[in-house]
Amino acid sequence: MTPAKIDALKTELAKEIDGQKKFSQEMVDMIFSFGELGFQEVETSRYLIDILKKNGFTIKEGISGIPTAWTATWGSGKPVIAVGSDIDCIPKASQKPGVSYHDPIVEGAPGHGEGHNSGQPLNVTAVLALKKIMEREKIPGTIMLWPGVAEEQLATKAYFVRDGFFKDVDACIFTHVSNNLGTSYGDGGMTGMISVQFKFEGQASHAGGAPWRGKSALDAVELMNIGWNYHREHMETTQRSHYVVTDGGDQPNVVPSKASVWYYFRERSYPKIMQMYKDGVKIADAAAKMTDTKMTYEVLGSAWPGHFNQPIAEAMYENIKMVGLPKWSDEDQTLAKAAQKEMQSPADEGKPTEGLATTLGVLRKPALTPSAGGGGSDDIADISWNLPTIVLGYPSNIPGLPGHHWANAISMATPIAHKGVTAGAKAEAMTLLDLFVKPEILKNAWTYFNEVQTKDTKYTPLISKTDKPAIQLNKKIMEEFRPEMKKYYYDPSKYATYLEQLGIKYPTTTREGSSTGK
Ligand SMILES: [Zn+2]
Repeated sequence: MTPAKIDALKTELAKEIDGQKKFSQEMVDMIFSFGELGFQEVETSRYLIDILKKNGFTIKEGISGIPTAWTATWGSGKPVIAVGSDIDCIPKASQKPGVSYHDPIVEGAPGHGEGHNSGQPLNVTAVLALKKIMEREKIPGTIMLWPGVAEEQLATKAYFVRDGFFKDVDACIFTHVSNNLGTSYGDGGMTGMISVQFKFEGQASHAGGAPWRGKSALDAVELMNIGWNYHREHMETTQRSHYVVTDGGDQPNVVPSKASVWYYFRERSYPKIMQMYKDGVKIADAAAKMTDTKMTYEVLGSAWPGHFNQPIAEAMYENIKMVGLPKWSDEDQTLAKAAQKEMQSPADEGKPTEGLATTLGVLRKPALTPSAGGGGSDDIADISWNLPTIVLGYPSNIPGLPGHHWANAISMATPIAHKGVTAGAKAEAMTLLDLFVKPEILKNAWTYFNEVQTKDTKYTPLISKTDKPAIQLNKKIMEEFRPEMKKYYYDPSKYATYLEQLGIKYPTTTREGSSTGK
């Protein structure tokens, strides 16, 4: 295919995606309203599967034994390109969109306080636009859509790899919400991690009447945490570790016979993650000995530190430059600034964070030194160590917010999110077209993968052959909140937007709820 022809097709893709704005907005708003936690993305998956089925995709449901996981494929032959994005949300992050202060839709309920409601709408929009062109132009190849289930628990992508769902895939484009349109390659300095729950079992007794007959499992949890926190002093600065007590007993007058604590152990390389894991087990074991309780542990999730593909990132960045940032309205900027003020957003590079991004981000290069970094993790890395993979970030969120917080849901069913998705869909569709019609990109991608990325570092899964996805997670929380949340599911047959359905004036920046904040 000539460069002129490819350019013409890209222009056509952008036009087609602009024409699908209403469709993209409905998907973004719908998934926002479902607000489902990891492993419980029942409505979200059903909704996406129905759309993809209607559009001629072949669906495989329940992959890796995970009820809400699936693949949707269309096309035939090589290359096979996977397109993914996460779908789960954040506990206690329920928030009315378009409102700059804390105002939950359902008090205490989960919500899209990260923005995972927008990635699949972006992918579906991009892929359907591309499919039309592939059919007409008879471009060979296969597209495989797939969801990042329970990304917040980093709990599924290593299983998809282990169970062979990516073994015939030539490359993967992943999308993740951001506050700019951009991508990166190499090791960006993030951590990998293993998530482990430790359970202690002791013996109950009357805490007042016969405390000497009890063996407290909660004591074991507390001693483990004390041990770990002393251990922290002697760990490298790149580590991150944190825990929550998932069971601390029932009531004070019963010596807790059962208690458990859930740890995330994060580091910058596989051997260091495994060392932390070993240290954690040792300290848990010692706590069990001190309290004469029994200890068991279970892996709930894992992720490698990310490394992304240079040739595909460079191809993507060319398209990103062509697409550019969305045009923000005064209303969009007013909401963003009010949210930043509300959250006391920190200064970025000496300048106060102000409003939405108006300068396109750069193509981010690898972290300067291997020991630099330390921060969050994403199990997309387990895919990225098995085949050339990149992550496209798109500007559906507001800069300078805390992350994993209700404030990160403020923009996620507003024109900010919708515009970000449209821009991202264009960049993705154009890059997918490149991958299908320019075989040299894939060839270079695999050369980079084999000769640079995996030259000295080989992928060893953090999960074992017998570990199972923790599909029981979040079940109880969703059962508690779903009946109330259902009342607020988006109904596009009645309302143009979710903002309209909730009766929110856009933007709402004062607590009286009437001002446009100008
Ligand atoms: Zn995420």
